[in-house]
Amino acid sequence: MTQSTTSPADLPEKIRHYIGGEFVDSIDGGEFDVLNPVTNEPYIKAASGKKADIEAAVAAAKSAFDEGPWPRMLPRERARILNKIADIVESRKDELAAMESFDSGLPITQAKGQAARAAENFRFFADLIVAQVDDAFKVPGRQANYVNRKPIGVAGLITPWNTPFMLESWKLGPAIATGNTVVLKPAEFTPLSASLWPGIFEEAGLPTGVFNMVNGFGEEGFAGDSLVKHPDVPLISFTGESKTGQTIFANAAPWLKGLSMELGGKSPAVVFADADIEAAVNATIFGVFSLNGERCTAGSRILVEQSIYDEFVERYAAQAKRVKVGLPSDPATEVAALVHPEHYEKVMSYVEIGKSEARLVAGGRRPEGFETGNFVQPTVFADVKPDARIFQEEIFGPVVAITPFSSDEEALELANNTKYGLAAYIWTSDLKRAHNFSQAVESGMVWLNSNNVRDLRTPFGGVKASGLGHEGGYRSIDFYTEQQSVHINLGEVHNPVFGKQ
Ligand code: NAD
Repeated sequence: MTQSTTSPADLPEKIRHYIGGEFVDSIDGGEFDVLNPVTNEPYIKAASGKKADIEAAVAAAKSAFDEGPWPRMLPRERARILNKIADIVESRKDELAAMESFDSGLPITQAKGQAARAAENFRFFADLIVAQVDDAFKVPGRQANYVNRKPIGVAGLITPWNTPFMLESWKLGPAIATGNTVVLKPAEFTPLSASLWPGIFEEAGLPTGVFNMVNGFGEEGFAGDSLVKHPDVPLISFTGESKTGQTIFANAAPWLKGLSMELGGKSPAVVFADADIEAAVNATIFGVFSLNGERCTAGSRILVEQSIYDEFVERYAAQAKRVKVGLPSDPATEVAALVHPEHYEKVMSYVEIGKSEARLVAGGRRPEGFETGNFVQPTVFADVKPDARIFQEEIFGPVVAITPFSSDEEALELANNTKYGLAAYIWTSDLKRAHNFSQAVESGMVWLNSNNVRDLRTPFGGVKASGLGHEGGYRSIDFYTEQQSVHINLGEVHNPVFGKQ
């Protein structure tokens, strides 16, 4: 197959930071190469932010918060701008998806779906802030209390490279809806689609300084680390690996910052013998191979009841072999190129580990016709033991581990037998079992007889090593606001020590 290297029509000349309403280079002139995942050739330079760039961005965001109109505007006024942002994102959906797919290697049809979700994230939080109701309490004749909800300040938003634009919108939407100003640090592997945010926000009329962006790496001395350690950034919303989450937790501790962490996963999909097997096969194929398997909530461990195990494995492997691997830009493609050669090496190393730990029943190598780039065949391992590394560790690629179980108790023990706890998928026609299993499984989210679908009102987040706190619906509003309690005296003032005053 000829591997197209065509780039989207309107690539910027270079990817820059955006600070106080201006595109700027790094203060020290630092840059890095961004690679095309189909060829692994550098296709654009991006500014590499460090401490001084973060200081400039935080200063711009702080001045917009302290002196600008945004935190002082009525919710309805902010909502109007958020709805405009959603309209613009929607109208530029195709261009956005083309950029995202080119930069990240996501199949184009799936990138379009993510762009639509990005628009929805702004619309949803626009609705929510207008309808926001706060608590009030009273003791008749004596006192009343009400809650005064306030934006907090400069929010630091740090995002990963899988579905980058959508995940950025998931943080930007609630952070600015509630009146905060922000500094976004996009993932270094995929900065391209984020370069569209400034134009979108300017066109929508977002006041200058509310949105700032510094590109670059996360490690010590670089943009991510400097953002976490900046004293004028009281909030950090982070999505990424659990290990990075631990580092951020420690680095934010001296300031006791507000933290929201959406981290890694190794989620079980549990298929009981009484399930609709065809639906379970289809959904679990989608669950691990969509988004190239680079999905935090991927059902990457499939646990199957012994009596249907052989049939399930056979059907699953046959279907995995039919998943269409292709170029990211091809609308027929179901699995395309992984984001970066470093990530490709990591995923392929797990494929090799899997070959020594379990039975390979599909995939296991680079697909034919794809000599360059980060392509991996959809790969299925069966008979995976719970102590295997491919059972325990997040691979974050198109690789799945299948394990048999013989009883509900064993299924639960296997499901909970990793350090992670993000999602769980349960397939059974027995409702009582489904509910009981949901109660006992250690995961932030459960899908019963269902694909991974999202209702933006529901809490999103993980337990154990998969996260800290929940976002989604009112939980996001809570994270991005201070709730000050105001007490009003309606009667006489009593003082227990000094008596009546
Ligand atoms: P990562 O942790 O390597 O990087 C994420 C972001 O953090 C990047 O922008 C990076 O530059 C920055 N960063 C790295 N070190 C930092 C530091 N010391 N201080 C501040 N910032 C730092 O993650 P990744 O490889 O980009 O993304 C994949 C991971 O994200 C997977 O583990 C996946 O499960 C997880 N993820 C979770 C969710 C969720 O909602 N739970 C969603 C998507 C992805």
